[in-house]
Amino acid sequence: MSAPVRTTRLITQRRRPRGMPVPEDFAGTELPLVAPAEGQAVVENLWLSVDPYMREAMDAEWELGAPLEGRSIGRVVESRSVGLPVGALVFHREGWRTHAVVSEAEVRVLPRYEGVATESFLGLLGGTGLTAYVALTRIARLRAGEAVYVSAAAGGVGTAAGRLARLLGAGRIVGSAGSPAKVRLLTEELGYDAAFDHRAGLSLSGQLARAAPDGIDVYIDNVGGDHLEAAIGAMREDGRIAWCGAIAQYNAGCAPAAPRNLFDLVEKSIRLEGFLVSRHRDAQAELEEFLVPHLRSGRITDRLSVTEGFERTVDAFLGMLRGENTGKAVVRLGPADPEPVSDDTP
Ligand code: NDP
Repeated sequence: MSAPVRTTRLITQRRRPRGMPVPEDFAGTELPLVAPAEGQAVVENLWLSVDPYMREAMDAEWELGAPLEGRSIGRVVESRSVGLPVGALVFHREGWRTHAVVSEAEVRVLPRYEGVATESFLGLLGGTGLTAYVALTRIARLRAGEAVYVSAAAGGVGTAAGRLARLLGAGRIVGSAGSPAKVRLLTEELGYDAAFDHRAGLSLSGQLARAAPDGIDVYIDNVGGDHLEAAIGAMREDGRIAWCGAIAQYNAGCAPAAPRNLFDLVEKSIRLEGFLVSRHRDAQAELEEFLVPHLRSGRITDRLSVTEGFERTVDAFLGMLRGENTGKAVVRLGPADPEPVSDDTP
């Protein structure tokens, strides 16, 4: 039996970023790991998620010098909890570190879906996929045949939204992304009917009008600002906007000028609704029931942008903010995962 793990490597925030974060805003350190108490277990992290909301948390919410946190998947390596047996793969929120002590109530023991990779629980079956699913089904209430526009379409939520929209029966699906290569990826591999490069220096409204000449019914907004303004302009009557995020403003230090055409919401009877996926955890079972058969059949595959090695976590985070990822940005800490222990095959 291997010796118990008694230290963890972790990343802390050294100072508040000004605009785009830089590596010097972070520090790596090694700290003692407390022995697990009754009902707790030691988890060795295998996969970490890096997400845009973390940039927002760095402005004030996250304490300087404290261990950072985020969605992760790990394997139980020592346990004092019957619900967390050694070898179990668990989803938890103690990211930005190699090992963590967790309690049963804080984690989800991941089910085993034959033919579905564990890391999908950070992608299509994780918060990313759930955000796209909730945006389309609960917020926008997409109907068959409707035209959909997705911004940051080559990212985690964006790639999930495009493919879920197709499975849900959408009509024309258009996306915007930040390079010609991403635009090609969207149309050639990810099921988008048309796409355009928002960094090409052209008018967003003009590009969207060309990509969706008959207008759009649903907008999944990951960017805010000028993208939201263009989408409102392209929207047909009774359109719906599911506002997921505003990545254009996270590094800007201030909110962009509001879309100048907000009154179009009135004239075209458009509904705009913001939401947090954390308020829709109850949709997780429905998402898995819907998506797992498609993942198994290969009709849809998870698209992850994998950075190798814990020591490259900050690089992965900064790269995601710069737009270097296609699909969900994750960090792989260890070798291939062992099989999950529980069998919850639907
Ligand atoms: P992504 O994988 O989409 O990564 C972020 C992407 O944003 C980058 O790849 C980049 O792609 C694009 N981007 C960066 N800066 C800008 C900019 N200034 N203007 C336009 N695009 C930019 O991240 P996620 O899928 O994790 O998140 C997408 C959005 O969804 C974020 O706004 C996030 O906050 C939000 N979100 C909201 C949730 C909720 O509960 N409401 C839950 C999860 C995410 P490119 O090269 O194309 O520019």
